[in-house]
Order: sequence, then C-alpha cells, then structure tokens
Amino acid sequence: MALVLEIKSLSKTYGDYRALGPIDLNLETGQTSILLGSSGSGKSTLLRAILGLIKTDEGSILFNGAAVAEWSPPTRAMRIGYVPQGGSLFPHMTSAANASVVARAIGWDKAKIKKRFDEILPVFSFDESLLRRRPHQLSGGQRQRVALMRAAFTDPELLLLDEPLGALDPLVRASLQEELKEIFSRLRKTVIFVTHDIGEAAYLGDQIVLMHEGRVVQHGSFNDLRERPACEFVTRFMNAQRLFAREAK
Ligand code: ADP
Ligand code: MG
Repeated sequence: MALVLEIKSLSKTYGDYRALGPIDLNLETGQTSILLGSSGSGKSTLLRAILGLIKTDEGSILFNGAAVAEWSPPTRAMRIGYVPQGGSLFPHMTSAANASVVARAIGWDKAKIKKRFDEILPVFSFDESLLRRRPHQLSGGQRQRVALMRAAFTDPELLLLDEPLGALDPLVRASLQEELKEIFSRLRKTVIFVTHDIGEAAYLGDQIVLMHEGRVVQHGSFNDLRERPACEFVTRFMNAQRLFAREAK
C-alpha cells in the first residue's frame, strides 16, 4: 500500500520538557488512523506539527514524498483539512462563512463555493437553512458538522481531526460516529482522528496509533493492541476502559 505520510525522528521540546518524540510513523493512503492516548500524551502536538503550526526541533514529515514544511500556508490549508481541538469556529461568522473560509482565502469564486455547498451539505446532513446562523445559534452537534465541513470543503487529501466529537453528549456523539464512519469509507480519505476513547477508536479506526508521553508505544490494528500488546503500558491502557465498561453495567 502507498504511504501518504512519513514521519521521521520527529521531536519537539518546550524548555526541558519533551512534548513529542522521537516519533517515527508511516501512515497508509485511504486509511482512518486513530491517534489514541491519555490527555497530555502529545496527540494535539503531533497534529499541529504535521500541519506546520509548530516548529519542531528535529525530524521530517513527508506528505506523498514532499516536505510539508516547504508548502505555503494556503497550499497546506487546501491539501490538509483540520478540525482543531475544541472546534474553534469564528464566533462572528455564519456557518456558511465558517465552512467556506479556506476556499475563500484561496480565491474560489461564488459559483464554485455554491457548487461545493450543494455537494457537501448532504454529506454532512446539514440543513441549508442553518447556513445563515452563527455558532452560538447552533447545537453542539451542528457546530461540529460545520467544523467538519470546513475541514473537508476544499476536498483535501488528508483530514486531521482533533477530538472532533469530544464535547458532545453520548447520543449525538454515537450518531455522528456512525455518520463519520460511513463518510470516511465512502470518500476514501486518509484520516487521522484523535481520541482518548477506546470504543470510538475501535469503531472508527482501521489502525490505531497509541501514544504515551510524546511517543508512539504501538501502531497496529485494534486486535494487535489488545491481543499482542507491545508493552505493559498498552495492556494497562486497553484494560482501563474495559474495567470501566464492566463497572458501568
Ligand atoms: P494531548 O493532545 O495528547 O492531550 P498535547 O499535545 O496537547 O496533548 O500536549 C502534550 C504535552 O505538551 C502536554 O504536557 C502539554 O502541556 C505540553 N505542551 C503543549 N503545548 C505546549 C506549549 N505551547 N508550551 C508548553 N507545553 C506545551
Ligand atoms: Mg489534545
């Protein structure tokens, strides 16, 4: 299978604190890879490094063989869709303006934007009448749909989604998980999806990248992590939520 992303010896420190790395990671085209790990394990930092939003100390990131660090910001925004942790829609902009912000920044005209809305609204089950609303006039689930449309608007090859369902109530979260699973498989996108939820990881991921203290501790299928844990930490992490599930019954 073709590699879309090759991360080599990537590291990032803040003062004496090593937030990331060294990380070596290869991801395949067309797969949904889950970045799984506890809070503070470096998941968001890794996504921001892939996007070039932070400068890393060492290492390289190749996207289809090209160095992402050398791309201009508009090229990067067009080719890599991003949902930052916490959503971060512009509060003063309508849903339409938020969803199309990258397209407008790179100079798409009105007709092209309208055509893209016609395609993308049904994909994300977003009612056209909500396009005039601002974020505070939407439900949490609707806001996340706008954030997802914004990330997917220019039809990027890679989607980086940082806990996109993290703040939603359980029922809305479950239905968006189902929709996203269907959307990812239909669009055949390469997706990197961050979560700390093992159930979400198992449901959505073709492969799991488990992070701990800024490093990748295991990269494999969900069954690999459960049945062939690379180290004691993997076993503890995978068991932590199984225990929780048992207690919750
Ligand atoms: P995760 O997304 O897995 O919860 P993060 O990638 O946000 O974790 O953070 C990893 C670690 O790096 C945390 O300990 C965090 O406090 C630290 N960190 C992240 N950004 C900065 C920063 N700008 N300055 C100092 N420390 C940071
Ligand atoms: Mg994070």
